[in-house]
Amino acid sequence: MATVITLGREGDQWFKISNSGVGREHARITIPDNPSEQWIIEDLKSKNGTFVRDEESGKMQRVSKMKINEMSYVRLGLPDVTGCSFYACHVLKQNAQNALRYKAEFTYIRQEMEQFLKLEEKLKKRRNIKDKFNRYSWLIFLVLLFVIDEFLEIKETNSMSFVRFVRYTMLGGGMFVFDYILNKRDSYEQAKARINAISLCPNPGCNKKLPQSDIAVGKCSKCGCTI
Ligand SMILES: [Zn+2]
Repeated sequence: MATVITLGREGDQWFKISNSGVGREHARITIPDNPSEQWIIEDLKSKNGTFVRDEESGKMQRVSKMKINEMSYVRLGLPDVTGCSFYACHVLKQNAQNALRYKAEFTYIRQEMEQFLKLEEKLKKRRNIKDKFNRYSWLIFLVLLFVIDEFLEIKETNSMSFVRFVRYTMLGGGMFVFDYILNKRDSYEQAKARINAISLCPNPGCNKKLPQSDIAVGKCSKCGCTI
């Protein structure tokens, strides 16, 4: 057996959905009794679609039927006031008095933010090294040139064009690899886009972009929902 919850304006989720872009019976979540099994979300041929956030990129993806977990972020309809977004675990809370309590959701957002800040710190350090590297790159260049020349001079048979070829290949390759390791810009941009997508108020009717201060205290300054 499993718990099946129909989501929508006339769905049987415990919290009210009145957003105009959500269908009367928009989607369905199936929760197996066995906690080790995954949940399933199904779109019930809704007009505006059912979306689940991709954990890697933070982007919302339209789904028809998909396995999810408690902390999957779901959106019924469009990404504006007509749609409705919430973490899947929210459908489990049965007590209307707890309507503004979002402990699991805030804990999740906090953990993700902490991880991102750690990554940012690491990348900042790397950027400092990179700045130093840029400042002294002429010196590194000269040293490399000297080392390569010394190395090549041992082999007296080398023609001058071959010497140049090896010299510039090694120099260029070395600089490129070093530069690449120090930059890692792509991974930072990805992490930033993801954390921006995640830092949203978990309250289905709010979806405010949470500033770091809200995340730190565990309370949305717009709707008042809290840990
Ligand atoms: Zn809010």
